[in-house]
Amino acid sequence: MGILAKFRKITNGLRKTQEKLGHELRRIFTRSPRLTGETLEDLEAALLAADFGVPMTMRIVEAVRKAYETQGKRGLDVFQIAKREVRAALGDAPRELIAAPSGLTVVSIVGVNGAGKTTTAAKLAYRLAQEGKSALLAACDTFRAAAIEQLQLWGERLQVPVVAGNYNADPAAVAHDAVAAAQARGIDCLLIDTAGRLHTKRNLMQELQKVHRVVGRKLPGAPHETLLVLDAATGGNALVQAREFHKATSLTGLVITKLDGTSRGGIAVAVQSELGVPIKFIGVGEQPDDLQPFDPEAYAEALFGSPQAEEAGASAR
Ligand code: GDP
Repeated sequence: MGILAKFRKITNGLRKTQEKLGHELRRIFTRSPRLTGETLEDLEAALLAADFGVPMTMRIVEAVRKAYETQGKRGLDVFQIAKREVRAALGDAPRELIAAPSGLTVVSIVGVNGAGKTTTAAKLAYRLAQEGKSALLAACDTFRAAAIEQLQLWGERLQVPVVAGNYNADPAAVAHDAVAAAQARGIDCLLIDTAGRLHTKRNLMQELQKVHRVVGRKLPGAPHETLLVLDAATGGNALVQAREFHKATSLTGLVITKLDGTSRGGIAVAVQSELGVPIKFIGVGEQPDDLQPFDPEAYAEALFGSPQAEEAGASAR
């Protein structure tokens, strides 16, 4: 199976970004036989509109300008250049979930309300089950009764056990009990769904730190992974959130959700570049198998789709 067929879900998930960017780039680069300052400014605007952020945008614009200087407009393939730069910027950091050296692995899932934490926790449980590993979900968003119910529903649907406290219970106490339950049951991975906090609320960040402290006291080394879930559609705001969360907790990975609903898919590159924390998964839909491992190659390909990518997408639709 070719890389494009294998990553069809990613290609489809990024279709909105790819279509808008592709359309813009073709419009910009086909209208004049020469590459002018105006062309580069338009390229810059198109990349910024897709939320690549200033550093990544300038990197691509520079690479295009240099290529034009050395080879002229003939054969200048802006898509290839952009793809190469994005691929290089994303690097080769390990993107597997961090596992405890032995015994229970604890993954804490953090982010603001509505980012997709609960859904991501459930999708990860599904993924682990597919790999033959056992998972336990902990509903530590005790501030919202609906959040506890939502996770319990997912648990029933996926047949994954859920540990939940009562509404308004201390999230750290629930997390503590969940670690104990996971250890007693010999579970491979505990997924903690934390409360959706406003990144500006200091006490909520402290609450999150307390959850991590308590978990670490119960099981040294835990949480082994702290994943920040970001909604791609929030654009530049996702960057602000990411900075605040990184300051309060040591993030080990990022999950970018709802890429299927936005044409601002560049945000993934911007956030990873700025934080230096690897993207581990992307969400491209609401179904359990819509959480995909992040693959820089497939991602760059999907953003600046080639004709083959269009074919792969077309046959998947
Ligand atoms: P939380 O408040 O952070 O726990 O967010 P939820 O997990 O409740 O998600 C909020 C909404 O976003 C729900 O309606 C989810 O179905 C939806 N959602 C989450 N991830 C994705 C995704 O990757 N794509 C799409 N289209 N919707 C998503």
